[in-house]
Amino acid sequence: MSNLRISEIFSSVQGEGQFLGVPSTFVRTSGCNLRCVWCDTPYASWSPEGPMMSIDQIVSECQELKNQHVVLTGGEPMLFDPIEELAKKLQAQGHFITIETAGTISRHLPGSFMSISPKPAHSAPPKDTPGDWFQRHESTRFQPDTIRQLVIHHEYQFKFVVKPEEPGSIEEIQSMLTAINHQIPPEKIFLMPEGRDQATLNERLKLLVPICHKTGYRLAPRLQIDLFGDTRGT
Ligand code: SF4
Repeated sequence: MSNLRISEIFSSVQGEGQFLGVPSTFVRTSGCNLRCVWCDTPYASWSPEGPMMSIDQIVSECQELKNQHVVLTGGEPMLFDPIEELAKKLQAQGHFITIETAGTISRHLPGSFMSISPKPAHSAPPKDTPGDWFQRHESTRFQPDTIRQLVIHHEYQFKFVVKPEEPGSIEEIQSMLTAINHQIPPEKIFLMPEGRDQATLNERLKLLVPICHKTGYRLAPRLQIDLFGDTRGT
C-alpha cells in the first residue's frame, strides 16, 4: 500500500499566486531535495517530520475538510511516487489539484495545476552546511529542461521569490526564464517578496511595483503572513 510522510493537513485560504483567496485544503508532504536558506517550512525540508499516512487516509481527511481546491505542497511533493496516486484519487473525488513544486523533478500529473517556484541563487544555504548541502542544493535547484516538460504538460504559474533590493535579482529571473526556452506569458509569472514578516514583505512589495509595470509580471503578496504571521497550519 502507498504511504506518504505528511507534516500537516489543514484548511485555509490560498495566500499566494493566481488562486489567492480561494478556500483550500493544504496537504504538506515532508521531505525536500533542496535546503533553501530562507525556507519557511523547515519541518518539511531541513528536519522533515510527521507520520506516514496511507493515500486513502489523506483523501479521507481532504473529504472531511470540504474544500474543492487541494494544494499538494511540501517540502517537495514531486519527490514521492505516491503523489501520482494521491492526485488521481483526489481528482476522482472532484477536487482541483495544485502542486507546489520547485520544478526539479518531472512527473506527468494530468489535470493538475503546477505552481512552479524555481529557486534563485540567493536560496543557497551556507557553504559549510553539514551533509554537503551547499553543493547538493546548487547542483539541483534549477532544472530548466524539467520545468519545460512541466509547463508543456500542465496548466501552470511561476512564483519567484525575490529580494528586489539586490542588484541583478530581476535579471537573474529573466535569464532563468530564457533557459527554460518556452513561451511563458508574463501574466503567469508572479514576483513574491522574500520575507517572513509583514514589514519586510511590504517594503519589498513596494520595490516590486515598478518592476511589474515594466515587465508585465504580477505582484504576489503573501496573504497568509498578513493574516496570520509566520505560523504553521495557515
Ligand atoms: S524547495 Fe521549498 S520546501 Fe524545499 S527547502 Fe526550498 S523553500 Fe523549503
